[in-house]
Amino acid sequence: MVYSIVAYGDTVLRKKAEEITKDYPELDKFIANMFDTMYDSSGVGLAAPQVGKSIRVFIVDGEPFAEDDEAMIGFKKVFINPVMIDETGDKWAFNEGCLSIPRIREDIDRHPNITLRYFDENWVEHTEKFDGIKARIIQHEYDHLEGILFIDKLSPLKRKLLQGKLNDISKGKVRTDYRMRFPKLK
Ligand code: ZN
Repeated sequence: MVYSIVAYGDTVLRKKAEEITKDYPELDKFIANMFDTMYDSSGVGLAAPQVGKSIRVFIVDGEPFAEDDEAMIGFKKVFINPVMIDETGDKWAFNEGCLSIPRIREDIDRHPNITLRYFDENWVEHTEKFDGIKARIIQHEYDHLEGILFIDKLSPLKRKLLQGKLNDISKGKVRTDYRMRFPKLK
């Protein structure tokens, strides 16, 4: 089942998401629906708040990058209750976009190396290092669980220049080929 993706301006995108426990109802179904939703919108990552659930779960599938970067082959994962242990190295710029903020892409600086502790979909705990585009996707999705959006990392001037477009998105004045839920749709 494909969920609607929550658009910029919805308060759920600004909340710090809550950890879940093993008895969270129908988690398997939720994760399967998250994948359906991500593939339907051609995303490489999707965080639960983006479908309106303020819980610490995100998914990734880096397959679209696999043609240019073979490290991305098979990078399909579920992250439950992730904790960012550290982020190191000189920041590098990468052009990011977000399914909740359609038609805006910007170069964002982030550290290249991360260590993340998380549970997978079988509730096996991992502490794992990631780098390159893998780290980048994880950092972007992890931020969603903290209520942070990639545009928050832009300079105040850049942000100001985007404000009109952002307001339009929150009002539903944007065209996407996937289903969205707009907070200020009249
Ligand atoms: Zn995003």
